[in-house]
Amino acid sequence: MSEIIFLEPVFKEMIWGGDKLETSFGYKIPSKNTGECWAIAAHQNGDSRVTNGEYKGKTLSKLWSEHRELFGNLEGDVFPLLIKILDAKTDLSIQVHPDDEYAREKENGSLGKTECWYVLDCDEDTTIIIGHNAKNSDELREMVENGRWNELLREVKIKKGDFFQIDPGCIHAIKGGTVILETQQNSDITYRVYDYGRLSNGKPRELHTEKALDVIKAPFVEGKTDREGVETEDFLREILVSCSFYNVERIDVKKKAEIMQEYKFMNVSVVEGCGTVDGMEIRKGSHFILPFEYGKVVFEGKMELVVSYIM
Ligand code: ZN
Repeated sequence: MSEIIFLEPVFKEMIWGGDKLETSFGYKIPSKNTGECWAIAAHQNGDSRVTNGEYKGKTLSKLWSEHRELFGNLEGDVFPLLIKILDAKTDLSIQVHPDDEYAREKENGSLGKTECWYVLDCDEDTTIIIGHNAKNSDELREMVENGRWNELLREVKIKKGDFFQIDPGCIHAIKGGTVILETQQNSDITYRVYDYGRLSNGKPRELHTEKALDVIKAPFVEGKTDREGVETEDFLREILVSCSFYNVERIDVKKKAEIMQEYKFMNVSVVEGCGTVDGMEIRKGSHFILPFEYGKVVFEGKMELVVSYIM
């Protein structure tokens, strides 16, 4: 039987980052401005390493290129998903991502980016920016060019446990005081739309206004989610979203959850609590992949998991 592949995250310092990846998740972080934990990542800007078993020390990119059988011989140049935890101490710049077609044409064949956010924690009265209030693309351009940001940006209140699907073309940003788990296509293509007029090292950060205006959809349509759950005495299993790029579920293990890994592979992140997976200890901050044909998997303990797979 195939082994569970445990992964070691890569950390990214960001001007907006904080220290919750250490204080809340127990990771050893490079500084008190650590914004991102690339937990399950096979990207040139961050590649997680296997910490156990036969493939110990190899990167996820290497497993993808040399052991495709672990992923059911899925096709593709790159491992399709990227799982991150973000800790925002201050507001992130407001951004938008292209779809596959635009990225292929304008960004050297890169993938576009569809992503989704599960809110792990946030301060009271925190909001996020998601979408805009322009009626059409002419009005959008006019509002951007005249800096009418307060009217343009759609700001919504959030709380722990909220979930958002962010399709390409949707303007978005998390604000200070928010910790999220992000499941996304394996791409790093981002167009910065607005940075609140802030300076970094004395000058404003670059904006990508024209490309952003090319890809922002107007009017805004809310990303579709599929929250639906099954609850027993032992666990709760809830689908958060199913789209053509990924399926994301939340599993709240109260005592024991037995599930089937019957997909090409399954990513698992422990976001709260601790327990075991098939007898091996795991806790908040553990990330691993259940490979192809893994079959039945048993989680025991009291913990919350976010899992993802593609169909
Ligand atoms: Zn994004």
